[in-house]
Amino acid sequence: MPQPFTLPALPYADDALVPVISARTIGFHYGKHHRTYVENLNRLVAGTDLESRPLEQIIAATAGRSDKAEVFNNAGQTWNHNFYWRSLNPKGGGRPKGELADRIAATFGSYEGFRKDFAKAAQAQFGSGWVWLVAEGDALKVVKTANAESPLADGQVPLLTVDVWEHAYYLDYQNRRADYVDAVLDRIADWDFAAANLAQREAATVHLTHA
Ligand code: MN
Repeated sequence: MPQPFTLPALPYADDALVPVISARTIGFHYGKHHRTYVENLNRLVAGTDLESRPLEQIIAATAGRSDKAEVFNNAGQTWNHNFYWRSLNPKGGGRPKGELADRIAATFGSYEGFRKDFAKAAQAQFGSGWVWLVAEGDALKVVKTANAESPLADGQVPLLTVDVWEHAYYLDYQNRRADYVDAVLDRIADWDFAAANLAQREAATVHLTHA
């Protein structure tokens, strides 16, 4: 009997992101929304051929299939939230460093250029969704996805994400999505996590090149 998916522990206390994100928001967002996606996913795959597959394979196998939309949505939201909590850090914010900083400057002209593109994508996402910094080949990109979708389906490597579903910010910011995104980037974005994702991807590329 395969093990069900579990809700990963939050990597910090539920009040650690105050004042950017309140403990009350974390209580609902992590404790109820994210938990429900995981529970729904387990219920939906139980007894099917997807039951013992890794999360990324379930997403790939159900993407774009209208008959599997419910599985895709809950698998996608499970993955996206796992990644979102890791994209935040009470000691985060400030500026990226090292190779990531150089790539951002090369792609967007400057950190400010990146920040402007990211904020613009967050505002442009109509309704629920996600904004991402991704690596695609040698380039970095800012992309947005709707609902449960992620850049994984497009072969892009996610480096950092911000959840722009209303449940991510409404208790703290009401309709002011831009203020929430600004505060996340400036104060709690985990650039070390993003840099590690970039480094991992590059290691994989080097490995493939020499294979
Ligand atoms: Mn969410």
